[in-house]
Amino acid sequence: MLSIEIDAVAYNAKFLKSNTNNFNTIESIYTLPAQKKYSKHQIAEYLYNEFKVKHIAIGDVITEDETLKVEKEKVQDIEKEVEYVFDNIIADRFIYLNEYSLPLISFFSKSYNDNFCTTGISNITITASGDIWPCQLFIGRNEYHMGKIDFNDITNFDFKKFNKVSDNFYKIKKSRFSECQKCIARYWCVKCLGAIQKNNLEENIITSECINIRKITEIVLEKLGYYILNGNFEKLYGNLRKTTKGIEDKFLNVV
Ligand code: SF4
Repeated sequence: MLSIEIDAVAYNAKFLKSNTNNFNTIESIYTLPAQKKYSKHQIAEYLYNEFKVKHIAIGDVITEDETLKVEKEKVQDIEKEVEYVFDNIIADRFIYLNEYSLPLISFFSKSYNDNFCTTGISNITITASGDIWPCQLFIGRNEYHMGKIDFNDITNFDFKKFNKVSDNFYKIKKSRFSECQKCIARYWCVKCLGAIQKNNLEENIITSECINIRKITEIVLEKLGYYILNGNFEKLYGNLRKTTKGIEDKFLNVV
């Protein structure tokens, strides 16, 4: 047993697996208490060995609560993380869905999203009270409130308010930032707008985190070059296409 939290994930996974023929992805959230006990790789190995799923995502919790917030990986870990992604693909195990595999998946999918995040554009959150928010991370931030559904009379809905907030999110595009226009990571870079806890989202997109995102992109592309040179490209590409079939849209645009 890894921990109570992972037991809960395992319990739900077992339940889903026995009730559907199409169970191939597990997404879970990583917190500081989990980080103190297990690496993400240990959790990924456990999930793969237990359920043989082909897509595993372990995302850091988005919170300002210091008791839960995960400590960021160090730059020297990037090589190791990229290696882990490639090793699992070449061994035809699973795709570890994260910022280390997205540059590779995006590269081959040839898709490009000029927005950083789909929140408020193709994704919204509706609470039980009928309030609409761009996503759950914006709940309570009134400047991003997208309207309220009156369940007794939905014709009352204020589409103007909804469209105004949605349009504002749509305008937050990479092509509008000079830093992004010349950035090697632009073709895949995604940023969670809900994680930006300040009101002016646009002013807080380009951060020191961009240095890491560029570094990851360079390492992934260098590694890809290495696979081409050592004759393993066909195997890598074949396994990647087989495993990512049908998930590109979901993971390229939503993560
Ligand atoms: S890493 Fe930064 S500069 Fe590069 S595309 Fe992403 S947000 Fe723009």
